Amino acid sequence: MGAMRIAVLAACAVTLQIWGTACDRRTCQRPESESQRQPESASVEREREEMGKRTTKTDAERKKQLTPEQYHVTCQSGTEAPFTGEYWNFKGKGVYVCVRCGNALFGSDTKFDSGTGWPSYFKPVSADSVEERPDNSHGMKRTEVACRKCGAHLGHVFEDGPKPTGLRYCINSAALDFKESAESKAE
Ligand SMILES: [Zn+2]
Repeated sequence: MGAMRIAVLAACAVTLQIWGTACDRRTCQRPESESQRQPESASVEREREEMGKRTTKTDAERKKQLTPEQYHVTCQSGTEAPFTGEYWNFKGKGVYVCVRCGNALFGSDTKFDSGTGWPSYFKPVSADSVEERPDNSHGMKRTEVACRKCGAHLGHVFEDGPKPTGLRYCINSAALDFKESAESKAE
C-alpha cells in the first residue's frame, strides 16, 4: 500500500513537472518571438489589439462600412492629400463627428483656416471626443489624434494653433462626417 502511494505520488510529480515545463516554455517563447518581430509591426499589432477592445466591428465589416479612403485613414492611420478632402474649405455651422461611430469630435466654431489644406480646429468638443498618443512613425515626433470612442485615426495635433488653446488639430476630412446645426438649417 505504502509503495503504491509513493508510485502514485511520483507519477503526479512527473506529470506536474512535464506540465510545468510546457507552461514555462510557452511563457518564455512568447516574448522571445515578439522581440524578433519588427518594432513597427509589433506596434501596429498592439494598436489593432487596442482598437479591437473598444469596438465589436471586424475589419471586414469596417471595409464594407467605409469608402477605401475612409478605411485607409481611420483604420490604417493614412493621410489624405491636402486640399482634396471634403471639409478643408468647408464653412457650414454644426458639429463634425467620427465617420465610423458618430462620436462628436469638433465644433464648427473652433474651425480655422490653417492654410494646410486639412480641416483644422483649436479644440475638440469635449473630453470624450478624442484621445492623443505619441506617434514616432515616418521619422517624426508627432502626437496622433484618435476617436476616443472607437479608436479611429483622425489626424495629428500640433502646438502652433491660434488662441485660446494654441493647438492645431490637423484632421483628415475622410475621418469626419458633418452634422449641420438645427439653427443653421432653419436659416
Ligand atoms: Zn469613432
